[in-house]
Amino acid sequence: MITDNIRLVEKNIADAAANSGRRPEDVRLIAVSKTKPVQMIKEAYDTGIRDFGENRVQEIVEKYPLLPSDIRWHLIGHLQTNKVKYIIDKVCMIHSVDSYKLAEEISRQAARHNVTMDILIEVNVAGEETKFGVRPEDTAALCEQISRLPGIRIRGLMTVAPFVDDPDENRPVFCTLRQLLVDIGAKNIDNVTMDILSMGMSNDYTVAITEGATLVRVGTSIFGQRDYGVER
Ligand SMILES: *Cc1c(COP(=O)(O)O)cnc(C)c1O
Repeated sequence: MITDNIRLVEKNIADAAANSGRRPEDVRLIAVSKTKPVQMIKEAYDTGIRDFGENRVQEIVEKYPLLPSDIRWHLIGHLQTNKVKYIIDKVCMIHSVDSYKLAEEISRQAARHNVTMDILIEVNVAGEETKFGVRPEDTAALCEQISRLPGIRIRGLMTVAPFVDDPDENRPVFCTLRQLLVDIGAKNIDNVTMDILSMGMSNDYTVAITEGATLVRVGTSIFGQRDYGVER
């Protein structure tokens, strides 16, 4: 079941990439395994998936020791400053940095563990009150500020687009994030490489790819519905 779902998602990714003149290998699939048991993650792993996304620190900490060590864990949900220390040595990337204070703590913990952490800045493109993320107009300044911190490397931008019936409605959101990535990239800020665009979920990842996504975060279309209400 999970294997079939992954094959279908991978095919959709390849088609969307081809349709927009991009190479399939320029888009990486992150399987969002939040709330899902280790057994299901293993099945996805055996299909070849190595990138997994979780939005809660607690879940990463629990699942981490039970799964193969070559998994690349992505922290995609809101991160509280006091929890950075639990995941700093476990994740390959933090997608949800939206304040200088959080970046400072990541920097501090990275130094302590002798690692350099890749991060993305989460942007609230649509300006939804219920969402985390910085305003588009504040993003460049935050990047410049964070870029001076040791142990941290800004790799790009991330957004969680609104929940819509017609995924095409999110096209302007994805387009705006990509433009922001290009604009900030053009500033050539030291220590900032704007090469990763994390956008698109089960509902809208093909649209996100045609607008330039390099990482898509897909949960439901791989693992099925989650056992709690709407969480985004
Ligand atoms: C849950 C979640 C996803 C995956 O959502 P699906 O609609 O299940 O594909 C992607 N990104 C973030 C930040 C999430 O919290």
